[in-house]
Amino acid sequence: MTTKLEARGELLTALRLSRGFTQVELAAEVGISQAALSKVESGEARLEVQAWRKVAEALMVPLSAFRDVRSTTAPARIFHRKQRTTPKSAVNKVAAELSLVRLRVRDLMGDRTTTLRRHDLEGGFNTPQEIARDVRDELGLGREPLGDLVAILEDAGVLVLRWSLDTIQVDAIASWQDDSVPVILVGEHVPADRQRFTMAHELGHAVMHEGAAEKEQEAEADAFAAEFLAPASEIEKEWPRGADLDALLLLKRRWGISLAALIRRGKDVGRLTDQEYRQWNIHLSTTGMHRREPDPTERENPTALTTAIRKFLDEGASIEDLASSAHMYPREFQLTFLEETPS
Ligand SMILES: [Zn+2]
Repeated sequence: MTTKLEARGELLTALRLSRGFTQVELAAEVGISQAALSKVESGEARLEVQAWRKVAEALMVPLSAFRDVRSTTAPARIFHRKQRTTPKSAVNKVAAELSLVRLRVRDLMGDRTTTLRRHDLEGGFNTPQEIARDVRDELGLGREPLGDLVAILEDAGVLVLRWSLDTIQVDAIASWQDDSVPVILVGEHVPADRQRFTMAHELGHAVMHEGAAEKEQEAEADAFAAEFLAPASEIEKEWPRGADLDALLLLKRRWGISLAALIRRGKDVGRLTDQEYRQWNIHLSTTGMHRREPDPTERENPTALTTAIRKFLDEGASIEDLASSAHMYPREFQLTFLEETPS
């Protein structure tokens, strides 16, 4: 059981990291020792209201942000591609933002539940492809091409947000806390053509994996994503004889995957030889199509959270109330959750 003090400490830690402060830096701002701050963060000590005021000021949140804090209780499993070049502090910052998102939207999204369940790879006994087909079945998606993937995930209870992730050089980051719904943050920098694959990849991590992703898990999540978006059985059936670019673009549009991913799929299902696959890749890169694909996929945008917020506003809640329940000032709340991000 976590106490109120611990819950407050948890929020404080997440806010501090998300603002990019070390304990030493924040302690200096507040005028207390790092040891004292550390104890507050771990829930072992209290602070005077005066000190809380300084903390809130430094972290740019209202003092009321620390009034009603419920603990997150269950540990979160967080998945992201490990990049050797990304500083640990940047990763910690985004991980903190992710836990903050969960805290912030808990009241807004109410008792949201997910229809997704965990699947066990059982040391390779189940393949990622099998699990992808199982998840399709659980969500009632059959083997058909998938429409708006963001909408499908949101219907399944997943919280999807577009987020600035270029600092950690990953396309997306997902987390799933045991007593909650999966959260996927998709990088604002990710082109629409890659976004669906990226989200399917994160879904794969969420249903199959236990924690931070190593090389092997990355390959598994990619295999999951490919099969989830474009089941091998269907691509094999639909692959045009002597496929030319136009025929492939038709398939690209139908299945909503990039040309690059489609060609990879053609090789996976045995419709392209290794040599043909290489030739296609050379063709895509010499024509610049690997950077800018023809028939770009339309960007899919999350709507569940903004819809929930607008409903509260329609029912008479104020932005101030909602922002306060999200431990934020109204301006940041609006910028974070209500303003459309340009695509
Ligand atoms: Zn990954």
